[in-house]
Amino acid sequence: MKEKFEELKNRLAEIVDLTRAGNLLDWDQQVVMPPGAAGLRAEELATLDRLTHERFTSDEIGRLLEDLRPYEESLDADSDEASLIRVARRDWEKARKVPSELRGQMAHSAAIGFPAWVEARKNSDFDAFLPHLERNVELKHRYLECFDGAESAYDILLDDFEEGMKTSEVEAVFAEMKRELVPLIEQAAGNPVDDSLLTASFPIERQRDLNALILERFGWKAETWRLDEIVHPAAYGLGTTDVRITTRYAEDGLESLFSTMHEFGHGLYEHQIDPALERTPLCTGVSLGIHESQSRMWENLVGRSRPFLRFLFPRLQEAFPEQLGSVEVDDFYRAVNKIQPSLIRVDADQVTYNMHVILRFELEQEILAGSIALKELPEAWGARMKEYLGIDVPDDRRGVLQDVHWSGGSMGYFPTYSLGNVISLQIWEKVREALPDLDEQFEQGEFGALRDWLRENLHRYGRKFTPQETLERAAGSALDAGSYLRYLKDTVDELTGAAA
Ligand code: ZN
Repeated sequence: MKEKFEELKNRLAEIVDLTRAGNLLDWDQQVVMPPGAAGLRAEELATLDRLTHERFTSDEIGRLLEDLRPYEESLDADSDEASLIRVARRDWEKARKVPSELRGQMAHSAAIGFPAWVEARKNSDFDAFLPHLERNVELKHRYLECFDGAESAYDILLDDFEEGMKTSEVEAVFAEMKRELVPLIEQAAGNPVDDSLLTASFPIERQRDLNALILERFGWKAETWRLDEIVHPAAYGLGTTDVRITTRYAEDGLESLFSTMHEFGHGLYEHQIDPALERTPLCTGVSLGIHESQSRMWENLVGRSRPFLRFLFPRLQEAFPEQLGSVEVDDFYRAVNKIQPSLIRVDADQVTYNMHVILRFELEQEILAGSIALKELPEAWGARMKEYLGIDVPDDRRGVLQDVHWSGGSMGYFPTYSLGNVISLQIWEKVREALPDLDEQFEQGEFGALRDWLRENLHRYGRKFTPQETLERAAGSALDAGSYLRYLKDTVDELTGAAA
């Protein structure tokens, strides 16, 4: 039995290598590839994806998984070995339903759709992007046809990013959010925070130095991490010893700092997975929602907190004496936590951010149901922005074309952003209980205890357990928006002077 297990492990290691090679091609496309190579890259990615899928869904792997059932049952269910067999079997059964040819077509369409989206967004030209969106949606319907018996089509897509999560659960959490957030947004609008101190010019060279300083304090190591600059910041999981994050700079603000902290959170999760799981399918984050909880934690709960800003702000003043020399740290804190409806999701504040996500979640369901024509999306987008955030969308670039996801055919992805927000607070409450002197540590620029807690209670498990089980282990509770909504309410109360 031991030999069969070793054979399975070796075959799965190959799949991981191939998958990561694809991720590396993706990273290369985003970071260094000359744009003229987009056509070639689409073919390469499609070939690699198809071959990986063929190898993984082979009868041989299916036979090994079947033969290993008694072995799996003889093991402790929490062991690495039993987890590997269990998770590989689930992945295999799901992947078998989708023909390799369709996988290749989806990968190809995504790789062609990306540069088309970049161009369309630049020109604010939705019509130029429409054929790519139509193709992606058509392929999505063919993908959905591979699965039968699911409660709703959206459940199938959601499951690709958040295993086991049901559309109805997301709807319940989002309904609660809508109810609580709309009055908070009004409350914030009635007492606007002055953030004019952030409208200065901040030379990019100094922003780079500050990003390096923050990352170094957070625990970034040049030996195993990379930071690059691109249009759409992201983190690329290439293994526990190859973590690549990206950020973007703009001279007219300090958003790059928070964007970098965000991607650091993603990177740290991948970096701190138990090395014993390396080159197995267990060696990555368990779901996008839990991944996002980690990025949001570092960006918002650490990065925008008073204690950390007490550490960071004097260094900002040193770097930008003319812009910030006479500013108080408390005014800076208020400015970087300002709540105000805006057009762009990635730049949105902590409260209105969720309304951007809810808008996309609703539109995606209507797209799949065919209750909205794709060419009418810009209008529908505008109407909902007006309804939820009270603002007018001036053009497609700042409306329906702002996000990369649909260019790659990713649908069912957006809700995980808000789930991540919710989960970040559930985990944060446990962190605070376990580490009562966290504020003092942040003021000193010390993050080792937080990193260790996250490794021990969350990161090291990788995909060994389901997202729900992983959340239970880290937070001791199932998905629950209560603590997140309380945190947002406290923040708005404090910013608007309504705190008790
Ligand atoms: Zn993220």
